[in-house]
Amino acid sequence: MNQPTSPSGGERIVRMEKLNKSFGDLHVLKNIDLEVTPGEVVVIIGASGSGKSTLIRCINGLEEFQQGELEVDGNPLKPHGKATQALQKIRTEVGMVFQQFNLFPHLSVLDNVTLAPMKVRGLGRHEATDTAERLLDRVGIADQAAKYPTQLSGGQQQRVALARALAMEPRLMLFDEPTSALDPEMIGEVLDAMRELANEGMTMLIVTHEMGFAREVADRVIFIHKGEIAEEGPPETIFDSPQAEPTRQFLSRVL
Ligand code: ADP
Ligand code: MG
Repeated sequence: MNQPTSPSGGERIVRMEKLNKSFGDLHVLKNIDLEVTPGEVVVIIGASGSGKSTLIRCINGLEEFQQGELEVDGNPLKPHGKATQALQKIRTEVGMVFQQFNLFPHLSVLDNVTLAPMKVRGLGRHEATDTAERLLDRVGIADQAAKYPTQLSGGQQQRVALARALAMEPRLMLFDEPTSALDPEMIGEVLDAMRELANEGMTMLIVTHEMGFAREVADRVIFIHKGEIAEEGPPETIFDSPQAEPTRQFLSRVL
């Protein structure tokens, strides 16, 4: 397949140009330019209400946008959310983990992980089960496969959500504050699983308030302020010598 290339010739998983998104009169995303290359880990930080969730929800077509260009793994998404084949393809290629785990409560852990691969990718039950067991083992909850989501801790549920997303063999993983709903003692186990995924070369776009984690795993940190990218750069630069005043103020509040 033809991959979009940057001026320097590199392949890109996300290519967003001058993206604008409003909810009615509220202009939430303003001329956002964003590129993510394969294997890159990009962390998005910013105050509540700055547009972080909206930005990543645009990337898998959960929100429509009004203006700009967006391609995900070479599939163009059109403004105004026109249902296209590309949108279907993006949904199968992009995994997402939300703040609220969004597991199917009436399905066992195993069935949560095998459902989409069987329905969407057409895997047989045996193959889907093998994959699910391998992934549940990888996130450290192989022994919970027969349980239902409500029988698990928040940290375990979030690791199921991660395994479920990985079962689709995504090209890109999106995370929207994956540890914000967790009790403090469970945050580490979810961040560990994400760190491992990053080390294995997964392309990841992560919204988080875990600044220590961001500093450690991010190749690049993007600071969003009132719907605009105010500043971006390597974690050392953003955290140790932020240039923009809004970044400084934000970091002085959270660090
Ligand atoms: P963040 O994730 O950075 O906290 P969001 O992307 O959730 O910010 O929200 C950005 C702005 O858009 C906020 O002002 C929020 O109230 C508004 N917003 C988000 N979703 C909707 C929606 N579905 N309808 C109307 N306004 C929304
Ligand atoms: Mg949000």
